[in-house]
Amino acid sequence: MLKLISIIIPVYNEEGNIAPIYDALRTQFSVLGADFDYEIIFINDGSCDNSASQIDILIQKDFRVKMIEFSRNFGKEIATTAGLHHAVGDAAIMIDADLQHPPELIPKLVAKWQQGFDMVIGVRQNNETESLIKRFGSIVFYKAMKLIGETKIASRTTDFRIIDRKVIDAFKGFGEHNRITRGLLDWLGFKKDYIYFTARPRQSGQASYSKMKLIKLALSTFVSHSLFPLKFAGYLGILIIGFSGPLGLFIFIDKYILTDATGLNFSGPAILAVINMFFTGVILSCLGLIALYIADIQGEVTNRPIYIVRSKKNFDHNQ
Ligand code: UDP
Ligand code: MG
Repeated sequence: MLKLISIIIPVYNEEGNIAPIYDALRTQFSVLGADFDYEIIFINDGSCDNSASQIDILIQKDFRVKMIEFSRNFGKEIATTAGLHHAVGDAAIMIDADLQHPPELIPKLVAKWQQGFDMVIGVRQNNETESLIKRFGSIVFYKAMKLIGETKIASRTTDFRIIDRKVIDAFKGFGEHNRITRGLLDWLGFKKDYIYFTARPRQSGQASYSKMKLIKLALSTFVSHSLFPLKFAGYLGILIIGFSGPLGLFIFIDKYILTDATGLNFSGPAILAVINMFFTGVILSCLGLIALYIADIQGEVTNRPIYIVRSKKNFDHNQ
């Protein structure tokens, strides 16, 4: 049976890459043969160059090419989300426009999908083209996410992946605004497999994620996937109470019950400092308590699907 595969390409100022990626995809689909058809969805994420007219040229000659144009730049994560919302294929492949994700691997992705994997994820082996700072930043980010994040985002996994229709439909259940597409896909579960690739240098144009934009993305991911920073205040508070409480008690007993029998002679300011510390601890631990409530509210407002069904068996006879 003919299988339709939706190719999802977020585009932000990629005028030089549109034609090359289209040609590369065509080549790969001719390798795949007559069993597979494709639709190519370009999401023009508010480009200010000629990307849109380049895509228009393709639309003129190939009815399988489609374009969603955003009113302004919303970022890659929202662009891929829109692509997934509009895909009608039996599976979707997300790929960057700059040819850093090798299109030659598409037959391999498709083969694994056909073997029964719901999601086959491209894992970047190394990226010589990335600056040391960016590489270091990404290591720190993934390590921190692993340690304190509630959603597991595996390191070096990329957006370059094929996902089955089941996963696309489940993905539509997410309503959150602040999102990392692959983080949400990872959250969904399903049967996964991985392929490995070496990212090539960008074909043309410039990487649009500046360091500042990446830091902002990393921070907002922390905030939306982890309440650890807020809970940390709570832990700190408990620690301070645990230290200053017994100390205060000791001073009290020493001063008023043993009437300075130990000879330590705590001064007035010292006693004040301990009392002050104790109440700081109380305030901080209350903040931690608030974090628990916020966690609860955050869980409700993001309105994630409560559960994800992979398949249902033997339900039809009831209908
Ligand atoms: N992109 C996008 N919106 C943005 C920034 C980037 O749609 O605001 C697209 C871009 O056109 C490319 C992909 O996302 O297809 C990856 O972007 P980039 O190459 O700049 O990121 P990097 O390779 O550094 O991860
Ligand atoms: Mg790139």
